[in-house]
Amino acid sequence: MQVPPRGGMFLFGGTVANVPTQSWFVSQSPYSVDAEDGKYVIHRDGERITEVKFAQAKFQDLKTNEGIPYYKIALLHGANCLATTTIQTCVYWNTPKRCKFCTIELSLSSGATIAKKKPEQLAEVAIAAKKLDHVTHVTLTTGTTSTPDNGIKHLVETATAIKEATGLPIHAQFEPPKDLSTIDSLYGVVDTIGIHVESFDRAVLKEIAPCKVDIPFVRYIEAWKRSVAIFGDTQVSSYVIAGIGETDDSIIEGSRILAELGGYPFIVPLRPIPGSMLEDKRPPSPDRMRHIYAEVAEILRANGLSWRNNKAGCVRCRACSALSDFEY
Ligand code: SF4
Repeated sequence: MQVPPRGGMFLFGGTVANVPTQSWFVSQSPYSVDAEDGKYVIHRDGERITEVKFAQAKFQDLKTNEGIPYYKIALLHGANCLATTTIQTCVYWNTPKRCKFCTIELSLSSGATIAKKKPEQLAEVAIAAKKLDHVTHVTLTTGTTSTPDNGIKHLVETATAIKEATGLPIHAQFEPPKDLSTIDSLYGVVDTIGIHVESFDRAVLKEIAPCKVDIPFVRYIEAWKRSVAIFGDTQVSSYVIAGIGETDDSIIEGSRILAELGGYPFIVPLRPIPGSMLEDKRPPSPDRMRHIYAEVAEILRANGLSWRNNKAGCVRCRACSALSDFEY
């Protein structure tokens, strides 16, 4: 999962956006955020657009009995999602197969988080986040492990602890395992699933995320099918990144394949994160994104899919994609 750090959660106009604030291209943006009469306001080339609020999280100021700050265990994402990377290491990280957009172990080496979150630690943080900040759902992701389950076993353990402690709906993301029956172990523990193909363009994937192109596309199809059969329509999603060399048609036609299976294509603009191997890239233009969002939203409508029906996770959070704003 491209968990985009180095940004801020902007709440405005009934929506939420995870906005990059530290990348090189930010200084070229026509938008600015300015203080005005005790409020914050977004301006575009000096023209007042709207008031904006920023998500605050009281739970992140707390510490465990062992002295670990809660923010190193989980963070507030969007307006009301508790999110964490349960295992902050990835078997591909120190290899040529690593995904060039990812910064999973950079967050670890910077000291911003811890390597492996214990079930009891996440349960403790989730209780506080629900009580103090009214989080209403949870996103759990993981680096891919060297074990055949790809990290699913630890997702089951952490989700079980959070569910028992809070009853919150939970989303889990992982790389599709060779043995797809491993996915069944998440049933009754999590509510929604993310299995991210990142790109439907295999040539682009070979260049940008070699480890993902080693997974036959048919395994994604079978993993999505099995997950939709278990969790239901709109409860299974995939990140699809725009801006890593693919065509609009590859995104649109790939999204149609996933939507016709009952899955939700979570279209996100490339986020060139400082420190990642793509940090110098420019994100796709707003006009290109509007075109892709409008086309994919039409496909969602045609297949009876909507973010409004999603129980937990990125599709419900919406902060990293504006697709939901095109779902009228
Ligand atoms: S969509 Fe929300 S939960 Fe998912 S990575 Fe973005 S901010 Fe986090």
